[in-house]
Amino acid sequence: MLKNIILMGPPGAGKGTLAKQLKTAFNLTHISTGDMFRENIKGGTELGLLAKKYIDDGHLVPDEVTIGMLKDRLAQEDCANGFLLDGFPRTLPQAEALEKLSKEINRPIEVVVNLDCDNQELIRRISGRRVCKNCGAPYHITTMKPKVEGVCDLCGGPLYQRADDNEEALKVRLDHYVHDTKPLLDFYAERGLLENFNSLMGSQELFNQVSTFLNK
Ligand code: AMP
Repeated sequence: MLKNIILMGPPGAGKGTLAKQLKTAFNLTHISTGDMFRENIKGGTELGLLAKKYIDDGHLVPDEVTIGMLKDRLAQEDCANGFLLDGFPRTLPQAEALEKLSKEINRPIEVVVNLDCDNQELIRRISGRRVCKNCGAPYHITTMKPKVEGVCDLCGGPLYQRADDNEEALKVRLDHYVHDTKPLLDFYAERGLLENFNSLMGSQELFNQVSTFLNK
């Protein structure tokens, strides 16, 4: 099975949902740089304070900060049996740093799963997205409702709307995706690592297709 995996796609494509399904099914370590920043913001750390200035407006946190944080995380013991990178890399310098690092620590990237989705659907998903404050599980106000309104099915935590899930910040995030992140698809296609999936299908069907591919 392929197990050192990058999940790519624009905000709202379903990377977080798919990562949680794959993590449970295949016992992989889920590394979301967005979640790591949000943890730091919650904990009031220096890194969190710095990152918040960028995140709330939809901008990317500078490469040197993000790469440094990821380097420490990827070298940890729980990544030895496989990892899912969700939200990293987002720029060419990040992809180059990851390529170098993953070779150094002998944990090479085996596949890049790219989720395609059209802009109208991304906006619908992001504007209705709610997230658990405790465990980060994602919901949607119409298509993925929790059993009890405002409460996480998994851990009972309160659901909230991310500060950057508003129309203005989303426009900036989509712009960063097109200019900074989308070119990485060529970077990985050249290395024979890219595998495209259409994320317009339901999350269960997407999970089935990606799992079948990873298992082949
Ligand atoms: P996400 O949860 O992946 O949507 O990330 C939320 C926000 O965190 C992004 O809009 C960026 O501001 C920041 N962020 C997450 N990952 C990265 C990254 N690899 N490089 C720069 N900024 C990032």
